[in-house]
Amino acid sequence: MKKLLPALAALLLLASCANTQTTQSGAVGVQRKQFMMLSTKQVDSMASQSYVQTLKTADGKKTLNPNPQQTERVRTIAKRLINQTKAFRPDAANWKWEVNVEGSSELNAYCMPGGKIMVYTGLMEQLNTTDDELAAVMGHEISHALREHGRERMSEAYLQKIGLLGIAAIVGISSDSRDNAATTLKIGSAVTAVALTLPHSREQEREADRMGLELAARAGFDPHAAVSLWRKMGAHAAKKPPEFLSTHPTDDSRIKELDALIPTVLPLYEAAKTRPG
Ligand SMILES: [Zn+2]
Repeated sequence: MKKLLPALAALLLLASCANTQTTQSGAVGVQRKQFMMLSTKQVDSMASQSYVQTLKTADGKKTLNPNPQQTERVRTIAKRLINQTKAFRPDAANWKWEVNVEGSSELNAYCMPGGKIMVYTGLMEQLNTTDDELAAVMGHEISHALREHGRERMSEAYLQKIGLLGIAAIVGISSDSRDNAATTLKIGSAVTAVALTLPHSREQEREADRMGLELAARAGFDPHAAVSLWRKMGAHAAKKPPEFLSTHPTDDSRIKELDALIPTVLPLYEAAKTRPG
């Protein structure tokens, strides 16, 4: 019986987990029930710690915000995008958003859970990205955070690991409770590492593409730039495949889907352009 308790606890935990919708569907109509085990607070706190560490490391290497003009440019674009996040979730206005630039030749950008944004200088310099194109990448990354894709991946990873733990408990691989605690802790940090570095699923990518397109349009950035950006990425990849592309395959279907969605968000872009301020 004693050995069955962890499995029972895991089952109870699962029973209390919710299928949720993190965002409103927007004009692009993103709707999918998401399985979540960890709380937003737990995931945001892990991401926040990781971001602080990243900033510290970059600062130590003198690569944090190496060019004030670049940082200013990225922050201005981010602010316009963040102002439009209310279309998908009103609470995002109160997030502790942070936006920084890291000096690196890599073509990369990300937005950690809770709104911690990083753009690599390589993305701006190597592709000669326009503001509209930068907004396309950042809108995509911000959408991953709005949709809490990181929390979703961590929840899935936990589910798999808890399943393994439960089985281990039942077959009595480790009956020492202190061993179990240590194992749980180890699994916990492994899951965090995995969830923060593993690529998103294809479906999560599609959602971020669609929501990002709408965010950029609402913020007054030309949605056509999403297509030109991915084309540039693809052309660059032919020479030297950037890291970003290992997690963001720029296949024809991605570009086709974005292209087909432009008419849906174009009125939002036109309205934003004529809006004062
Ligand atoms: Zn993505």
